Amino acid sequence: MNRDFDVISAARNWRVEAPAPATPAQVFGELFASDVLTLDELRVRLSKPVYRSLQATLERGERLDPAIADTVALAMKAWALEKGATHYTHWFQPLTGYTAEKHDAFLTPTSDGGAIASFSGKELIQAEPDASSFPSGGLRATFEARGYTAWDPSSPAFIMRHANGATLCIPTAFASWTGEALDNKTPLLRSTEALNRSAQAALRLFGHPEDTRVSSTLGAEQEYFLIAEEYYYRRPDLVMTGRTLFGAKPPRGQELEDHYFGAIPDRVLSFMTDVEHQLYALGVPVKTRHNEVAPGQFEVAPIFEASNVAADHQQLVMQVLRNTARKYGLVALLHEKPFAGVNGSGKHCNWSMSTSSGLNLLDPGETPHENAQFLFFCAAVLKAVDEHQDLLRVSVASASNDHRLGANEAPPAIISIFLGEELTDIFERLVSGEGGRGAEAGVLGLGVPVLPHLPRHAGDRNRTSPFAFTGNKFEFRAVGSSQSISFPITVLNTIVADAIEALSAQLRAKLEEGQDIDSAAVQVVKETYARHRRIVFNGDGYAQAWHEEAERRGLLNLRTSLDAIERLSDPKNVTLFSRYGVLSEREVQARQEVLYDQYFKTVNIEGETTEYIAQTMILPAAANYLRELCAVKTPARALTATASEVAAVTDDLYDALQHLREQNAALGGEEIHEKAHHMRDHVIPAMQAVRGAADRLERLVSETLWPLPTYRQMLFVK
Ligand code: ADP
Ligand code: MG
Repeated sequence: MNRDFDVISAARNWRVEAPAPATPAQVFGELFASDVLTLDELRVRLSKPVYRSLQATLERGERLDPAIADTVALAMKAWALEKGATHYTHWFQPLTGYTAEKHDAFLTPTSDGGAIASFSGKELIQAEPDASSFPSGGLRATFEARGYTAWDPSSPAFIMRHANGATLCIPTAFASWTGEALDNKTPLLRSTEALNRSAQAALRLFGHPEDTRVSSTLGAEQEYFLIAEEYYYRRPDLVMTGRTLFGAKPPRGQELEDHYFGAIPDRVLSFMTDVEHQLYALGVPVKTRHNEVAPGQFEVAPIFEASNVAADHQQLVMQVLRNTARKYGLVALLHEKPFAGVNGSGKHCNWSMSTSSGLNLLDPGETPHENAQFLFFCAAVLKAVDEHQDLLRVSVASASNDHRLGANEAPPAIISIFLGEELTDIFERLVSGEGGRGAEAGVLGLGVPVLPHLPRHAGDRNRTSPFAFTGNKFEFRAVGSSQSISFPITVLNTIVADAIEALSAQLRAKLEEGQDIDSAAVQVVKETYARHRRIVFNGDGYAQAWHEEAERRGLLNLRTSLDAIERLSDPKNVTLFSRYGVLSEREVQARQEVLYDQYFKTVNIEGETTEYIAQTMILPAAANYLRELCAVKTPARALTATASEVAAVTDDLYDALQHLREQNAALGGEEIHEKAHHMRDHVIPAMQAVRGAADRLERLVSETLWPLPTYRQMLFVK
C-alpha cells in the first residue's frame, strides 16, 4: 500500500493558525498598504530637501542621487525595524520568470562584543547577488560572471512576513556589470518610457499640454487550482513539474458547469480572505475572487495599476497564493495545464494607456474630438498587433503554455483581435465611406464619426479571442497563469509605441497639408484599418474554420512555442527593440537563448519524471494487480480476461517506456535550440505514449493498488 507516506505528516506538521478576522474598517483603513513604504510615509521621515530630491528622482525615472542615499537608507531602516524586519533583500526578477531574493541581516557587530542594526545608502542603491546561478543567455559569460541589483524607486519597498519574522524587500533591477539587463524589470521600465515618449508626442498633436505623461496600465486576472496537500505530495509529477503527467479523465469534468461562479467552499473562502489580507497589507488592490470554469479552479484579480507596479504586485499575488495555501492544507497550482482534458489556467492581462491626469486613451469618450482621438489610439493597437503577431506569441511562449495555446483550448495560438460588432462596424463604415446607421452613429462634419455607446463588457461575449477589446482596454488572454507578465507588457508597450509613432508621422503630414486634427485623425484611422483589418476577427477562435480562414488571411499560426521563439531574433524584432532602447541585439539573443533553455529544461524534467513514475510506480502497481488476479486457485473467467487485458496494456506501457528511455538519453544535438527541438519532436510524443498506456491501466487496476491520487480525488475532494 502506498497510502501512508511520512512526507504527508511532515508536510502537515507546520500548519499555522489562520489570522484573526479583521473588521472591514481595519481591512480597508489600517491594513491597506500598512507594510508598504509609501511616499507619504517617507515624506514624514525625511527632511524637506531630501524628500524633494527623492521625488524629483522619481518623476524623472532616474536612479537615486548618492548624496541622499544614506539619509533615505536610514529612514527605510527605521521604518523596517518598527515593522519587525531583521533582514533586507534586493528583490528582483531574473529571467526565470520568478522573483529572487538574497537576505542580509541589518546586523553589524560592535567592538564591545554587541551588535547594532545598520543599513547604508550603498547597500540600498546597489547589491551584488551571486549572479552566476541565474540564467543570462550568455550575457555574462563573455565578460564577467557578476551582476548587480539596483533599486527601482518607482516601485515602493515593502515588508514580507513569515511565521517567525519579516524582511524588508527592495524592488530592484538586475543587470550585468556591462549594463545589460539580466531581468524582466529593466526592459519593462524602458518600454514604459518608450510608450510615454511616443504617446506624448501624439497627444501634443491632439492639443494636450506638453508635459502630459503617459503610462500603460495593467490589471492581471490570475487563474489557479487548489488541491489538497495530501494528494500533492503523493504525486511526484506535480511536485517536480507542476502538472500531472498521468491521470485518466474523470467521468465528470466541467460538463455540468456547476462550479463556475458557484458558491465558494468555506475552506477555500477562508484561504482567499487570508490571501487578500496579506495582499492588502502589501498594497496590492485585489478586488475580485470567484470560482473558475473547471472544478477546483479559481481566480483572483486586482484593480489595475501602472504596469511596472502591477508587474511587481502580480509576482506578490503568485507568491502569497502559493505560501498561504499551505496554511489550509492546500496547494495552489499555478501551472497552465495541471490536468489534461480539464480547462487550463491563464492570466488575462488587461492593458490600456493612461495620462498622468487619469485620461484613459482607450476610452471612446463622449465628444467627436474624443472619439477621433480614441479611434487613433485604437487603430495604433490594431497596427501593432497585426505587424507583431510573432512578438506577442513569443511573449507568452513556454513549454507549459503550449498545452493551452494551439491545443484544443482557448485561446488559440493564432493572434487576432476581437473588436466587437459595434466598433468593427464603425471602422468598416469609415473605410467604405458609408454614413452612419441612424442618428446615434451619425457622421459629423468632415467624416468624424460620433461613436454610439460601446458596451463595456462586449468582450465577455467572446472568450475565444486571444486579444479582445473590452470597452475601454484590451485584454491579452494568451498570457499563461504561471508566467511573469513583465515581458508580455514590455512587448505590448513597445509595439504600440512604434505604431503610435508611425501613425503620428502620418497625422503630422496631414496637419501640415492644412487639415484639421479630427478629420486628419479619421483619415489616418481609415487608412490604418484598411491595411490591418485582417487582424480583426469576432468569431469563434476555437473553430477549425477559423484556422483555415486565418491562413487565407496570412495570419501567423505559431503552434508551438519553439516556432515562436525562433522568430524573436528576426531582424524586424531586433531593429524594433533597439530602436526604442528596450533591448539591444545581444539582450534579444540572450532572451531567446534563455527561452530555449527553459523549454528544454522543462520538458527534459517532465520526460525524466514520466520515466521514473512509469517504471517505479505504475509498472509495479500493474504487476501487483496481475499477481493478485493470477493467485486465485480456481480463476473465474472475469479474472483471466482481466489479467490478459492488464498484461497486454502493461506490455504496451513497457514498450512505450523503452522508447521514452532512449529519447530521454538522447539530446538531439549540441546547440540549445537543437536540444529544445528534440524535446518537442521526440520526448513529448514518447511521454504521451507512456501516459496513454498508463491511463488505460488506471482504469483497469484495482484502486487500492493504484499509487497515484486520481483526477477524481484531486479535483473533487475538498
Ligand atoms: P471584466 O473583465 O469582468 O469585465 P473589469 O472590466 O472590471 O472586469 O476588469 C477586469 C480587469 O481589468 C481588472 O483587473 C481591472 O482592474 C482591469 N482594468 C479595468 N480598466 C483597466 C484599464 N483602463 N487599464 C488596465 N486594466 C484595466
Ligand atoms: Mg477576463
